[in-house]
Amino acid sequence: MDAGKLLASISDASAETEFYTPMPHGYVLGKTKFVIVFGTVMSGLGKGIFSSCLARCLKDKGLSVAPIKLEGYLNVDAGTLNPYRHGEVFVLDDGMETDMDLGTYERMLDQDLTRAHFTTSGQIFTRVLTKERKGSYLGRDVQMIPHVTGEVKCKLRELAVATRADVIFVEIGGTVGDLENAYYIEAMRELAFEEGPNSCAFVSLTYILEPRTLGEQKSKAAQLGIRRLMAAGIQPHIIACRAHNPVTHKVREKMAVYCNVALDRVFSMHDCESVYLIPEMIRGAGLDTTVAGLLKIQDRLNSDSESSSWQAWAGYMNRLRTGIAPVNIGITGKYTALRDSYASIIHALEHAGAALGSRVNISWVDTTEISEENVGEKLRDVHGIIVPGGFGVRGAEGKITAINHVRQNGMPYLGLCYGFQLAVVEYARNVAGLEGANTTEIDPDCLHPVIDMLPDQKKIEGLGGNMRLGGYDVQVKPGTMAYEMFGESEMIRLRFRHRYEVDPRYIEKLERAGMIFSGRSPKYPIMQILELPRDVHPYFVGTQAHPEFTSRPLSPDPLFVGLVRAALDRAYPDGLPAGVAQAIREMEAAKRPLASQNTPMRNRQPATAG
Ligand code: GLN
Repeated sequence: MDAGKLLASISDASAETEFYTPMPHGYVLGKTKFVIVFGTVMSGLGKGIFSSCLARCLKDKGLSVAPIKLEGYLNVDAGTLNPYRHGEVFVLDDGMETDMDLGTYERMLDQDLTRAHFTTSGQIFTRVLTKERKGSYLGRDVQMIPHVTGEVKCKLRELAVATRADVIFVEIGGTVGDLENAYYIEAMRELAFEEGPNSCAFVSLTYILEPRTLGEQKSKAAQLGIRRLMAAGIQPHIIACRAHNPVTHKVREKMAVYCNVALDRVFSMHDCESVYLIPEMIRGAGLDTTVAGLLKIQDRLNSDSESSSWQAWAGYMNRLRTGIAPVNIGITGKYTALRDSYASIIHALEHAGAALGSRVNISWVDTTEISEENVGEKLRDVHGIIVPGGFGVRGAEGKITAINHVRQNGMPYLGLCYGFQLAVVEYARNVAGLEGANTTEIDPDCLHPVIDMLPDQKKIEGLGGNMRLGGYDVQVKPGTMAYEMFGESEMIRLRFRHRYEVDPRYIEKLERAGMIFSGRSPKYPIMQILELPRDVHPYFVGTQAHPEFTSRPLSPDPLFVGLVRAALDRAYPDGLPAGVAQAIREMEAAKRPLASQNTPMRNRQPATAG
């Protein structure tokens, strides 16, 4: 009897068999296809980027795809992780705090994801231990195999049932050889056995060294990395070689010989200028069709869908390549050392730049060094600034000083979450006459707590449990700049991650002083977008949300487009470069006036209350 039939015939938690594997209701063995991506040699190869680009190529062929990231760490979610160590914390519409790779998947696939697309060892072990305490294992000793690996497979199968995707893309976190990921690899070996032939394509991403002193590519580390995967019982079907330069024929041959993988399944995935150019590299090399062939799904492909989606994507790549008018945007913050901490903001700027025929250069401004005396000098070379999300006291006064400077000097400003709150503090202090105004996050005893802990949140104790998280609807006030930018939608949806908000007692005072709250929660007095009128300032906008999480290459976030456009006006006071003017005309013709198809209602997940 083959594994599939045997599994189908046994009950979930039987104590009698070694074939224990929990199956979600409605799952059909062998129907769903899986592409499983492992990283060898070292971390930081861009597994998430590669896997999302490959998924995108298959989606373009008319298949429905669903990615999942399996993280090795024991944290239950990414909410408590320090972005300085681990990259930004990405927030999904359903409120799940995840690793930054989920952002890569959402952007590349233009698809909203849920908590079903992300798991950690912390979640897997929690499930196993909860079942154990409930006695669900019927007296069996609970083991890594089959119980823990069983939960991993179950997680993938649940995703298959929930999404009905043709292909599930599984990204195994970490590097082959890490202790903490070993049981994921074992689970994938079991999965392939149970699902049967042509169900799983194993892709090993590896790294080809090119030491400067030798000037030639060396594959030994890559060979050994893949051998390690083979020792775990997994023979890769495809090897994708990351490298600085295109991988030579000789090196590909070596990889083929040492790893039992046909030469035409060893691919060069060398560095390229933008991640958005990688799908082209994958297509050009035929990696996507190789996967489709391995999974025997050629009959499900749709060439009409492929040509129309590819046309739109090619237009985006073209704008990336030809949009050259430079504009400088400063980002303030304390994690200035690590670009990964601000990944989504950098992408949102790139999307906005491409839409406007411009290349956005980013400069990092360390606000711990900003004072009233040097702020003009520090911001001299930028045409607009972003004060991004943040927590705590450090650098906050410097940010307020920077906001004061840009407000008074007509420099375009976009405040994101903390940047929104600090803009309110600055305005309260310097315009609304509320001396001593602050956020209680900085000074709990301040005279005017214009930003304070959310009334409901005050009651909730404990780290990781007291934030307003996820997608919420935002009601946009007609006649405002925000209304115009969001394509005259009165209801949009944005993502949030915060504890503090504008204290409703101060709303009227701030409005009387000229601040416009153009976006609010439809149900509660929670202020979500602020702006100053255009005749007062060319672009002074803040949002309590994180619009960077919902910006996509083909539908850039309108607030970022607004910022870059205003910054371009400042950079080119004598007239916009022809390419930019043309891009703006095209946007307007396509009815994308500063606004986008990024109607955050698109692809909506079941809403969290808000
Ligand atoms: N620290 C602020 C809050 O908790 C802002 C959070 C953020 O910027 N993500 O509300």
